[in-house]
Amino acid sequence: EQSSPVLEISSLSAGYGRFDVVRDIGLSVGKGEAVALLGPNGAGKTTVLRAIMGLVKQRRGLIRIGDTDVSDLPTHRIARGLAAIAPEGRRLFLDQSVEDNLLLGALHLRHDRTRVERLLTSVYDLFPVLRNYRHRLSSFLSGGEQQMVAIGRMLMSDPEIMLLDEPSVALSPVAVDIVVKAMLELRKRGASLLLVEQRIDVATRVCDRLYVMAHGEIVEEMTPEIVRSGGMSILNKYLG
Ligand code: ATP
Repeated sequence: EQSSPVLEISSLSAGYGRFDVVRDIGLSVGKGEAVALLGPNGAGKTTVLRAIMGLVKQRRGLIRIGDTDVSDLPTHRIARGLAAIAPEGRRLFLDQSVEDNLLLGALHLRHDRTRVERLLTSVYDLFPVLRNYRHRLSSFLSGGEQQMVAIGRMLMSDPEIMLLDEPSVALSPVAVDIVVKAMLELRKRGASLLLVEQRIDVATRVCDRLYVMAHGEIVEEMTPEIVRSGGMSILNKYLG
């Protein structure tokens, strides 16, 4: 896995104003691997995902997806099958139908209707409830169902790497379980995931490796096994 990562970041610094929120970060995600970014509020986790998508203007360092250096690419190019994000807060168009929200992920594929249909089918196979709700306005969906749409929209672009920003936040235990099982199913399908999480239990269930961020830097790297055999106290030191 380590020999040909699907995502490789080195010496990344990124921020918004006078200061860098993220400083000199290096991380990698192998093909078919799931990696978590843990850390307290304000550590810079979301900023890393936004930098990968090219949504943060101020970024330095190297970001490579597959064979493509995306460090200087604009977001619309990166979103064309390289990386996709299920953002914090889900960011759906609530006055649009479920299916229209999903199709937004596949705008760059709209000339290949067969492929779009195949992707839609795979999203509805992953979340059967969305098939029933396909013509419903997204505002009528529960928080968990809206999160399914956000994940589905990400799948619709058929990306090399999927970025998920706290998909478990503010969901019921049942909905969290559905989202976790969906991520595990994506892994079975061979997807590569970078998951930002505050919940250690979710991260350890889904991921092969965990990075811990604090004050804009990566301060620890561990495996779920290490967390279970005593690493929890290290994590709690950072996560509080
Ligand atoms: P959270 O879990 O709260 O999202 P995080 O680890 O994802 O935390 P970021 O969202 O990356 O952290 O934010 C890191 C820092 O950057 C915070 O201090 C935040 O206030 C600042 N920040 C985030 N977005 C912006 C922005 N658009 N403009 C200016 N500062 C920002």
